[in-house]
Parts: sequence; C-alpha cells; structure tokens
Amino acid sequence: MQNPNKILFQSSILQAYNRLSIEIVKGEGCYIFDSKNNKYLDFATGMAVTGLGHNNDYINKALIKQIGEIWHCSNIFTIPLQNMLADRLTKMTFADKVFFCSSGVEAVELAIKLIRKFHSVNGKYRIVSLKRGYHGRSLAALTAGGSDIARDGFGPFLEGFDSVIPDDIEKLESTVTEETAGILLEPVQAQGGVFPLNKKYLQDVRALCDERGILLAFDEVQCGYGRTGKLFAYQNYEVIPDILLTAKGIGNGFPLGACLMKNNVAECIKPGMHGSTYGGNPLAMSVGNAVLDIISEPDFFFGVNIVADYFKEQLEKISKKYPKIIKEVRGVGFLLGLETYCSSDKIMLSCLKHKLAVTCAGNNVIRILPPLIAKKHHIDEALAILDDVFLEL
Ligand SMILES: *Cc1c(COP(=O)(O)O)cnc(C)c1O
Repeated sequence: MQNPNKILFQSSILQAYNRLSIEIVKGEGCYIFDSKNNKYLDFATGMAVTGLGHNNDYINKALIKQIGEIWHCSNIFTIPLQNMLADRLTKMTFADKVFFCSSGVEAVELAIKLIRKFHSVNGKYRIVSLKRGYHGRSLAALTAGGSDIARDGFGPFLEGFDSVIPDDIEKLESTVTEETAGILLEPVQAQGGVFPLNKKYLQDVRALCDERGILLAFDEVQCGYGRTGKLFAYQNYEVIPDILLTAKGIGNGFPLGACLMKNNVAECIKPGMHGSTYGGNPLAMSVGNAVLDIISEPDFFFGVNIVADYFKEQLEKISKKYPKIIKEVRGVGFLLGLETYCSSDKIMLSCLKHKLAVTCAGNNVIRILPPLIAKKHHIDEALAILDDVFLEL
C-alpha cells in the first residue's frame, strides 16, 4: 500500500524505521502532541515504555533534583540510589541480585552470558528459545529470536541456539539435550503478535528445567513492569524464573534496563567479567526509584486491573460487532492485541487520523499498550475511535 503519511526520504537519519512524518514534540499524561498541536491519545506509549504517562510531575521532580546533584559516576564507586533500587526490586521479587544496564537488549545479552557462564564448568552451553519470540537487536538476541527481516543478511549467528514452537512441551523436551544450559522466553510474547503463553506450559517448562538442571530466563522487557497487571508477568503465572530481564517501563522513558537473578546464578560473576559504563548511573537510578515509588503504591495495580479488564471486555464486544475485521482479541492487562483480517498498518494509520496512537505487531495484529495510568474515560475515548475506524473500513 502507498502510504502518504510515511516519508520516503529521511534526511540524514539512517533509514532503520519506516517513519511517519508526524513530528511529536510534547507529551502530557496519556496524550502526545505534534508540531501542529494535534492531540493524540497515546496507547502506543513508546512501545510499552511510558506507562506512568508523559511529563509525570513526580518523576520529573526526582530527575531534576538529581540533575543538580550528580549525573554520572563510575561503577567503581558505590552509588547509593543503585543499592536502593536493587534492594527494593529484590524485596519485591524472587531475585537476590540485580545488574543495571541501559536497554532491554543489554539485559538479554547478560542473561545469555549468565546461562553460559553458570554451566561453563560442565560443558552445557545450548540455549533454547521460542519461535515468535523477540529479544532485541544484538547478534545474540537475533540468534534467539526476531523476524526474518530482522535476521536476514546478518548471519552467521551464534553457535548453540535452538528454537521451538511455543506452548508445546513435548517439542521442548525433545529439543533439550545434555548440552542445554538455559531456556529463554517471553511469558507474554509481545512483538511477535501478543501471545500470552499457556500457564500449564510455563509450569511444565519450570519442572523440566528443575529436572535437568537448566536455567530459566524470562524476558519481561515488554511484558514486565506492570503491563500484565502485576509488577512482573511471572507473578501472574506463579512460575519463578532463575533470571528475569526488564527494561522499557522501568524508566518510563529514561534509558534503563535490569537483569534480576537468584544468588546461585549471581555467584558465577566475579569482578571484571561483565560491566556497563552507564548502567545504574545516578540519573537513571533517580528515575528508576521514582517509577517504583508510584508503581509500588498499595492500590496501584488494583486500579490498573479494573480499567484493563473493562478495556478487554469492551474490545471483545467490538470484535463481535466487526467479525469480518477482527479475528481475535488477545493479551493480558494493558498488553493487548487485536488480530485482524486486514493490514494492521492500515488500521494503525486510520487510528492516527482519528488521533489515537497504537502500534502493530507483525502484519495483522494491532498492539494496544495504554499507559498504566489510563482511566475509564481514556478507554472509552479509545473505544469510540476504534469503533469509527472499523466502521470506515
Ligand atoms: C523491546 C524488547 C527488547 C529489546 O529492548 P531494547 O531496549 O530495544 O534493546 C528485548 N526483549 C523484548 C521482549 C522486548 O520487547
């Protein structure tokens, strides 16, 4: 489809994205504004990043205060805010230790390194990941997942990776060998089309890992940090990983990622074996702590879940109204997908024309990622727009 909203020539920016010509210049709560002062309801949240809304006063204050104290110092020093955030995250999760970095893919990279290092003494090194998975753009992450277009021409990839279809424990069991060191997966596959994995499957995966001495790593870069209505998605599944990766929502837009792990895994890393210049620096930690302050308020998720349940219920209703357009509604909490019979690009552009920002996942899934702070009236606003968009199709 020829798309008039997409600019073909992108000046001096590498053409890694099929960019829209809309210039976003401001954000406020659940809305973003373009340079012509058009207002959009932001249910794309920068790909599940700005969950607490734009221009959040509380987070701004924490960052501005930190800007006036110190921006950066090396990890050869103790960074009090880093200790504080790590302590808080370990108290709230299965984890004993945390490593901070600046993006999702760096957290994934560390997970892969941890799995290999942990098992390096006994010759296990293979890692199994799932088809439809997405783990970022480094060579290791692309080896473990990603679309054909993301991988094509970038090989050869890393040795020792296997890939199986999701939700099929027999396939996984037959792929695991004596050399398998770890399993890496997203509990809710996001980029691949919004597919929550089956609870029984994840429990069986955990049991298989225990039986065979395999480490289980959950990539919660997108589905974590409140997206599924709990701090982390594993808490919905009641399946505890050995390693967990988070990013996106943890910084509400400030580049921040983290790899959480149990003590037995952490013990394989000694000084000099891993690092990151910016990881856990004071600016990032001021934001990380402020985000967690908000998200750990006692009633925070209670409110999120009420609004998210309402949204899903209403989306199901809309899907019944347009059975020729919508094939299925999928997802958990505020990580929702509408599988459609037509191009998701076309629907996304039509939504934008009606001042609603959503994202696509693959060719035929509209991925809807509302801010966690969205209220019922924001949901109603989005539903009305979606209804108009489908009516017009
Ligand atoms: C976005 C994403 C990544 C990569 O994160 P970056 O910050 O873009 O490096 C990794 N895993 C999942 C599940 C993601 O959604």
